[in-house]
Amino acid sequence: MKDVYILGVESSCDETSISIVKNGSVEIATTVLTQMDTHAMYGGVVPEIASRMHTENITLVLEDLLSKTDLSVSDMDAIAVCYAPGLLGSLLVGIEFAKTLALVYNKPLIKVHHIAGHIYANNLVKEIKFPTLALVVSGGHTELVRMDDDYSFKVLGTTLDDAIGECFDKVARVLDLKYPGGPNIEKLAKLGKNTYNLPIPMNNNELNFSFSGLKSAVINLVHNEKQRGNIINKEDLACSFQTIAVDELIRKTKLAIIKTNIKRLIVAGGVSANSYLREKLNELCNELDVDLSIPPLKYCTDNATMIACAAYPLYLKKEFTDFSLNGKSQEYFFTNK
Ligand code: AMP
Ligand code: MG
Repeated sequence: MKDVYILGVESSCDETSISIVKNGSVEIATTVLTQMDTHAMYGGVVPEIASRMHTENITLVLEDLLSKTDLSVSDMDAIAVCYAPGLLGSLLVGIEFAKTLALVYNKPLIKVHHIAGHIYANNLVKEIKFPTLALVVSGGHTELVRMDDDYSFKVLGTTLDDAIGECFDKVARVLDLKYPGGPNIEKLAKLGKNTYNLPIPMNNNELNFSFSGLKSAVINLVHNEKQRGNIINKEDLACSFQTIAVDELIRKTKLAIIKTNIKRLIVAGGVSANSYLREKLNELCNELDVDLSIPPLKYCTDNATMIACAAYPLYLKKEFTDFSLNGKSQEYFFTNK
């Protein structure tokens, strides 16, 4: 079969990224321009600034990408773009850019959900084989999913309230940690010990998660200690929180493996960058003889490589989209399947 080259565009938050991927699994070239330093000055992503910076940078990102390869846009088989979820103004910059390329170069346009991108980033490591379990851990998603084929998702367990990434970010905020919260909790946790007694979330045999109780417990603890004039050991609290949150992910993943007897696990989403989670998943999969795939760190943060990977099965199914494509700031991935 002829090789398929897809150009992917990602601009859902504070990274402007464009990538070319061959056959959904071979990265040809990628450029990622992060705005993190700018937003860090404000303590979080400022949507208005993010979309302006995408507008300033996106053409330069394409120029930089094309300087890394002999391929040009006319060599592409399709243009793929992340359309949801994210900051609307940011998404729209990438969407309009992708539409323009598709129109000018007469290429099919493929819309990709951000979470599909995180899932299909696993193909960059080794081909996803089915059936597989997928642990999806991001700012808006916490799911254990069974996949029997490409784009076939059966949710086995989901969060009943907060997503795990959201929980990391809220706890980071109450500990006065700088944006981005998740990675800073991880850094602090490395310096601390698991000494604080926090409640175990959803301590049962179901596959659903709940993180709001744990989040509230940390927030209340910090407020109570402050009111009493006590000093909080932030390193220990970060470590205690991270241990209990990650251990919960591991416990439910183990249950899902045992219940389904599926011996493959892929991991997806920004929280999969967490080194304690990666370590515990390795231990679990060694113990249960499960084939584990976690994308390398650079593919766990936002990038267009994963968008081009996720577009490939859609290209094969000819699931193209027309030029009326719009951005969606919120769209839960799995309910639409
Ligand atoms: P996503 O929604 O998949 O783009 O991932 C973003 C989420 O991942 C945010 O909530 C981040 O705080 C979280 N995150 C990123 N890196 C880490 C980390 N090392 N540890 C914990 N959470 C992280
Ligand atoms: Mg992401």
